[in-house]
Amino acid sequence: MGTPVDYGHKNYNAYGAHLRQKYEGKRVFKIIVDAGFTCPNRDGSKGYGGCTYCNVDSFTPELSRKLPTIREQIEQGMERATKNYAADKFIIYFQPNTNTYAPTHYLKMLYDEALSINTENIVGLSVGTRPDCIDFEKIALLESYADHFDVDLEMGMESIYNETLLKINRGCTHQELERALNLANSTKLDICVHTIFGFPWETHEMMLRYADEINRFAQIKFVKLHHLHIVKGSIMGARYHKEPFNLFTLAEYTDFLADFIPLLRPDIVIQRLFGLADYDLLIAPNWGLKKSEIQSYIDKGLERRGVVQGSRLSIV
Ligand code: SF4
Repeated sequence: MGTPVDYGHKNYNAYGAHLRQKYEGKRVFKIIVDAGFTCPNRDGSKGYGGCTYCNVDSFTPELSRKLPTIREQIEQGMERATKNYAADKFIIYFQPNTNTYAPTHYLKMLYDEALSINTENIVGLSVGTRPDCIDFEKIALLESYADHFDVDLEMGMESIYNETLLKINRGCTHQELERALNLANSTKLDICVHTIFGFPWETHEMMLRYADEINRFAQIKFVKLHHLHIVKGSIMGARYHKEPFNLFTLAEYTDFLADFIPLLRPDIVIQRLFGLADYDLLIAPNWGLKKSEIQSYIDKGLERRGVVQGSRLSIV
């Protein structure tokens, strides 16, 4: 499993170009690792049922999952990436569920194992988690790797509005994200936040204000922007079946990004402009295109409109 990096030239601060510059043209590839974590918003410690957009199937109790070992996942992932994409360097990406939801000594064991597998070609560690599963000790652990690897801590912001976070059963407030961001301030970690655009009760203007909120935190280096999509096995999916609501068309989402990107600080690297669930899981919106075709549609739309990241800072 893994994510090929796009090396195209863009009018926004694209992740592919960032990696190419940082690693002097080498092809860098993320290797996804499922370490069998659970999620506190499903196991009852923070809530049950999970975020309403989250697919239940992606949550399987730790002990009942038959996962290959971390070593097997990484070695096989690197082999595939090298064969299929001529990858040179690798970032180990702990992605599914909440990858800091365990005692720090256990996390250390997992991260140590992952990073020791191919010390010559592994250049980074990326850890996806919830802001309420971050504390000082975990930040210190992650920072302990930062002298030898680029360490990227990815947290779900999803919305800047607590009303939305409540409606989607996030089990976490925006203030908890602020607290985690403050803990990570002045550390060597690269912080990434993940947002979702298109909750039907949030207006265009409300969504544009995410940019100001992200810009406020100098420690945010990366963003992953997503449009809301509805997947099978989610609470939102069941609701959508009963009562469908408006979701972005690709043209509308491109228009939104064309308004949003100029408001975003130019130093922030955009790791992703949209999300794409597997088509067998996706209910809506189905744009009927492959990932590369969606990327190209959006990029052409942004270019046609003369979009430049940061060109309209703080106009909202
Ligand atoms: S989206 Fe993340 S935080 Fe929310 S229920 Fe799913 S795994 Fe947990």
